[in-house]
Amino acid sequence: MKATSRTSLAARILSDAQRFESLKREIVRLDYFSKGTLLQRRMKCGQKQCACHRHPAKRHGPYWECTYKVHNRTVNLRLSPQVTPLYRAAIQQYRKLKSILRRMERLSRSALAHLAQQRLTGAH
Ligand SMILES: [Zn+2]
Repeated sequence: MKATSRTSLAARILSDAQRFESLKREIVRLDYFSKGTLLQRRMKCGQKQCACHRHPAKRHGPYWECTYKVHNRTVNLRLSPQVTPLYRAAIQQYRKLKSILRRMERLSRSALAHLAQQRLTGAH
């Protein structure tokens, strides 16, 4: 192996490690997270006389619901207006976590390939 490519391999291995560390720091900064999506629902109430039973436009709400799956079952969590921002933020954190994990996985694949190449060529 030529000296130049040996240097660039070492540089790549170093940059892989730095990028991996920076993604780890992003995970540490995450806050509580939750799977799911927020949906707006308009509901009918319990009173048969109420206009909500005749006109869909007169239904009550909108209410926010957080919907997610646990063991293939859908969970609908009704949210009051005061707590909706908590769940909105938590869902955002969850998406961020998934995105960081995807990037870490992709980076790990190429980092492992670089390390493997280093071992096979004996470039230390
Ligand atoms: Zn009603």
